[in-house]
Amino acid sequence: MGTQFSVTVIGLGPMGQAMASAYLAAGHRVTVWNRTASRADDLVARGAVRADSAEQALAANELVILSLTDYAAMYAILETATAALPGRVLVNLSSDTPERAREAAKWAAAHGAQHLTGGVGSPPNRIGGSDVYTYYSGPKDVFEQHKETLEVLTRGDYKGEDPGLGALYYQLQMDMFWTGLTSWLHAVAVARANGVTAEELLPYATDVMGGMPDFFAHYTPRVDAGENGGELERLSMGVASIDHVLHTTRDAGVDPVLPAAVLEIFRRGAAAGHAEDSLTSLVEVFTGNA
Ligand code: NDP
Repeated sequence: MGTQFSVTVIGLGPMGQAMASAYLAAGHRVTVWNRTASRADDLVARGAVRADSAEQALAANELVILSLTDYAAMYAILETATAALPGRVLVNLSSDTPERAREAAKWAAAHGAQHLTGGVGSPPNRIGGSDVYTYYSGPKDVFEQHKETLEVLTRGDYKGEDPGLGALYYQLQMDMFWTGLTSWLHAVAVARANGVTAEELLPYATDVMGGMPDFFAHYTPRVDAGENGGELERLSMGVASIDHVLHTTRDAGVDPVLPAAVLEIFRRGAAAGHAEDSLTSLVEVFTGNA
């Protein structure tokens, strides 16, 4: 085995448990603390050290990984233990907004600690694999210093010094993930109402969603250049098409809220003068530049 690292993991939901487990499995030393102490039992049985308090967990190691529901949970825990913060490196792998990450970095600095923001792009069962990654931002030297330890969990993708960036990339990913997944669930509901199973839809769902990267590759340089010409497709066609989806949904007795929202966005774009432009003109509509 290579270097043995020593880390603290605070927060033992499914993600924190997977992280502590990955360190133990790779032979590293792990101190754990969780509000609900019993969640540490299995890890302790496998060799983790149980801290009796958050303060003790902080005192145990320079590198402290936080895996909590959100940043409010971090304050709820660390505000009771500020005496142990000086000299710590807080690697905050809890999800929250870029602005809250920036505030947290200032808060940590005011207490003598450094803060690395992290956004984990992987489910718990893939932690420990090098094919998954985590966005990081904050002081580059701190990231570089702890990169090897952090990469026991996932590959590290450093986005820059601004503490908000790691959270921003994570939220962008979730923006696409939640709306993309919900669109599939909606299609499954319409299919089911028509007697078509998710299994029967699967090859076509895979084909449609799997084709998205080709659209991204085609549109990306045009979007960045502000070119929204409608040579290949026009927003007016999109309005007619999503209206068909809306009616198909209603006819099936399925809640139409999702296609209705998309139709509303398309109509706003058309009303703003983009009917003959590409669908990519919606970026201007969303940003209020239409
Ligand atoms: P959970 O919400 O299940 O776990 C939350 C942890 O936060 C628990 O240890 C919980 O303690 C603790 N916690 C919450 N509120 C408080 C509080 N007020 N005071 C003290 N402790 C608190 O989240 P996950 O483990 O699933 O995920 C952790 C983070 O990772 C989240 O930010 C999530 O968005 C992100 N993430 C999760 C993924 C997943 O698939 N699970 C995927 C990618 C990112 P207690 O046990 O006492 O309740």
